[in-house]
Amino acid sequence: MTQQANNRLAGQTCIVTGGSSGIGKEIALSMGRDGANVVVNYYSSEETAQEVVKEIEANNTVAKAFAYKADVSKEDEVEAMFTKAVDTFGTVDILVANAGIQKDAKLHEMSMEQWQRVLDVNLTGQFLCARAAVREFLRRGMRPDISRALGKIIHISSVHEIIPWAGHANYAATKGAVRMLMESIAQGYGRQKIRCNSIAPGAIRTPINKSAWETPEALEKLKELIPYDRIGETEDIGAAAVWLATDESDYVSGTTLFVDGGMTCYPGFATNG
Ligand code: NAD
Repeated sequence: MTQQANNRLAGQTCIVTGGSSGIGKEIALSMGRDGANVVVNYYSSEETAQEVVKEIEANNTVAKAFAYKADVSKEDEVEAMFTKAVDTFGTVDILVANAGIQKDAKLHEMSMEQWQRVLDVNLTGQFLCARAAVREFLRRGMRPDISRALGKIIHISSVHEIIPWAGHANYAATKGAVRMLMESIAQGYGRQKIRCNSIAPGAIRTPINKSAWETPEALEKLKELIPYDRIGETEDIGAAAVWLATDESDYVSGTTLFVDGGMTCYPGFATNG
């Protein structure tokens, strides 16, 4: 399902957080295939991040990339990542704030550490990266030959920004909060031509949810929640992210794009509830 490169993002630079695996990896590859320079942020796995860099540069001679280790929950590390991106590529045009984790527990058994770490990565990380991106967009100013927007921010949220999730209250709370963060940025910086949107994936086949798809029985059970009757693939999200980064979506801001095969359509009611 690899798409042809047509360089719609040539001359633009994209930072993808958590870009060495799963959804982030595919978004990094998709941005590169469309000509963007890519900063592949990683947290622990340098080797796989370097492989993504190699693949980006092999797929499209227009696109350049480098891997950068940073914990998105740490202010100084996020600032240093943006400085390195600007020093290397001149500016940043697109942020995909994708890094996210789960630390699951029933609420009455959830430790402070499980609660706090998920908030730090999934919410504070999104804030720190979005703030750095807005600052860079405002510093750099418009480049009408490159894009109609001053900059584009894409938060990777989840269907759990609206679907409650018992046993995962920390995760669902962060995704609900990301929605308001995204809408507040879109509202506050629209006049400066910054577009801010979220993608809310449904069930996508990645390491984060392996137990939900690794056996045929688990996959069948999962599909009961998906009207379109298939698990999502990372390419489904990569394509949506590229569209949100191009001028083809120039009038789209402050929106969550659900890429979920209909998971948010209350499938339990399909047979009368
Ligand atoms: P994944 O585990 O493959 O990806 C998460 C990435 O974030 C990893 O590369 C990890 O190293 C990175 N990361 C973790 N902590 C970090 C930190 N402190 N700083 C920087 N990077 C860090 O899983 P995924 O499914 O690809 O998840 C990507 C995003 O998509 C997450 O925000 C997740 O909540 C969201 N999402 C996934 C699904 C799904 O079904 N897979 C559904 C909805 C939302």
